[in-house]
Amino acid sequence: MYRKTVYRKTAKLFVIAAPSGAGKTTLVKALTARRPELRFSISYTTRRKRRNEVHGVDYLFVDVDEFRRLKERGALLESAEVFDNLYGTSRTQVQAHLDAGHPVILEIDWQGAAQVREAMPECVSVFVLPPSVEELEHRLRSRRTDTDAVIERRLKDALSDMSHWDEFDHVIVNDRLEQAVADLESVLAGTGTSSAVSNPEVREAVAQILARPGER
Ligand code: 5GP
Repeated sequence: MYRKTVYRKTAKLFVIAAPSGAGKTTLVKALTARRPELRFSISYTTRRKRRNEVHGVDYLFVDVDEFRRLKERGALLESAEVFDNLYGTSRTQVQAHLDAGHPVILEIDWQGAAQVREAMPECVSVFVLPPSVEELEHRLRSRRTDTDAVIERRLKDALSDMSHWDEFDHVIVNDRLEQAVADLESVLAGTGTSSAVSNPEVREAVAQILARPGER
């Protein structure tokens, strides 16, 4: 009972966004292992289900008409088009987790993050960056499943996504996983001043990451 009261007081909404190749999924998985009280919202998407994915676990897979209906009746806290598919967060799911006293993590893109910040200004938003553009390219290329054209597009999209880092409360550089998880845990605990976007050291580190090789 007492424990539940404590959760209720600290329940919060966290938004995590990252370009593909930043290693967000690995980071969030490692975090969940250490913080079992966290809850994830299962998004709606019109994207086709991949072979290893399960409806209701990875996503709620819906067609475009169903997605539009959900949006029209206000069921989505945010929604966005990402890589030609529609994605959206269920308002009732998020609210139910928060009401039950659990911190909630939304793994969404920067456009969705902007909408959540608008709708729920008390949320804490985090942008995950790769250690360098070269490393990002390397990570994207080592995914053997993609064609060169897909990789080029993902790289271009990733660079454009990364230009939105400044809109977030925190930036975490996913260089060493252990450190990145620790940084993320600090943000969840409300003590993550070293990753705050307002921190000049963070701004300098981001400038280095985003600089083209010739500018460094
Ligand atoms: P994937 O299709 O590879 O699982 O995800 C592609 C992108 O869609 C990722 O950047 C992911 O963060 C984003 N995404 C997943 N769910 C949502 C959502 O509910 N809303 C928004 N805005 N983006 C999402």
